[in-house]
Amino acid sequence: MFPGPLGMSLSGDALARGVWTLTARNIRDHGLGRHRTVDDTPAGGGPGMVLRCDVLGQAIDANVPEDDPRPKLLMSPRGKPLRQDRVRELAAGPGVVIVCGRFEGVDERVIEGRGLEEVSIGDYVLSGGEMAAFVLLDACVRLLPGVMGKEASGTEESFETNRLEYPHYTRPREWEGRTIPEVLLNGNHAAIEKWRREESERITRERRPDLLG
Ligand code: SAH
Repeated sequence: MFPGPLGMSLSGDALARGVWTLTARNIRDHGLGRHRTVDDTPAGGGPGMVLRCDVLGQAIDANVPEDDPRPKLLMSPRGKPLRQDRVRELAAGPGVVIVCGRFEGVDERVIEGRGLEEVSIGDYVLSGGEMAAFVLLDACVRLLPGVMGKEASGTEESFETNRLEYPHYTRPREWEGRTIPEVLLNGNHAAIEKWRREESERITRERRPDLLG
């Protein structure tokens, strides 16, 4: 699945230029027996299968030295919801090790034993951690120096100031009877700034009052 969508566009160009690197490891390479088994039925019964702690522990140990400074994340709907501040921290750090779950989840003991930090990308359930990892990596990579065209974009965006972004417009000046707000067309930068700030506040109040709290 990797690099998948991360091999395209902004993140893909940066990957090709060596701005960031990605190594994907298959947990199944550490599976048991002829069938390279990685999962088993849940202790206590119930539906689904659980990723074995010994297999996952071995997969981590084979790829991540004990003194590796990178945080070890486990994509998980139980995790702390990912937010832009954590994305910034991760992007500024030494990189990440990301464990992608599958099936019903992961044996709790390997989460404890390898100090995995559970991270969620939202309150819904995916079938695997890979797409959650794409989301996390994309959010981080675009913040790396030299990835985004303009330095400025990225600091003025939604969440960076706990505000959602103001509306954008571009050509044509009129479309299906809808026009661009007059203030954006007259070159008065102070007025534009004020309008954007107010729109930002209004949209945040309407849609995400929790951010203003
Ligand atoms: N039984 C689990 C869900 C397992 S989903 C539960 O109820 O919590 C299978 C895998 O998909 C998980 O191990 C995790 O790695 C990934 N995943 C699913 N939803 C996710 C989310 N919202 N955020 C991050 N990872 C998620």
